[in-house]
Amino acid sequence: MDLFGTKELDGYTIIVGCGRLGAILASKLSDSGEEVLIIDKYKDAFTKLSPSYGGIATLGDATEINVLQDAKIEKATALIAVTDNDNTNIMVAQLAKEIFHVDYVVSRLYDYERECVYQEFDIDTICPSTLSANEIVRILSVSKESNKK
Ligand code: AMP
Repeated sequence: MDLFGTKELDGYTIIVGCGRLGAILASKLSDSGEEVLIIDKYKDAFTKLSPSYGGIATLGDATEINVLQDAKIEKATALIAVTDNDNTNIMVAQLAKEIFHVDYVVSRLYDYERECVYQEFDIDTICPSTLSANEIVRILSVSKESNKK
């Protein structure tokens, strides 16, 4: 189901999961002039998109091949899998990479111990806990340094 009408898409980015991360990402990419299509299995999720979002919102379960085909995945240059489930993200990322040959695939990964699985399939990962830990360590070291002065 296409909520925003049909647009001609070519060389665009698909975001899977219109949650807290996906909605911000979609809005930012769209605001910077990128063509974006976002998929979520719940219609209400699209209310998180900013009013300025100029892309497409498609309702469906992205683990189903026909949903990805309806999203014209064969024309996408990038797919970002940011659902709240690692298994869903890896499945969608693998479909994008192996079956539809999307050039750039990135996936959110909660369990950093599974990173090797993604590396095997040439899928980049964003791990919120690792990113947060690195940032907290950086903030602590900056504030310790400034307290020394
Ligand atoms: P959040 O945890 O806030 O980043 O939200 C994750 C989003 O992913 C939610 O809006 C879910 O409805 C969505 N989601 C989870 N599984 C799927 C799926 N298989 N296909 C599409 N969207 C999904």
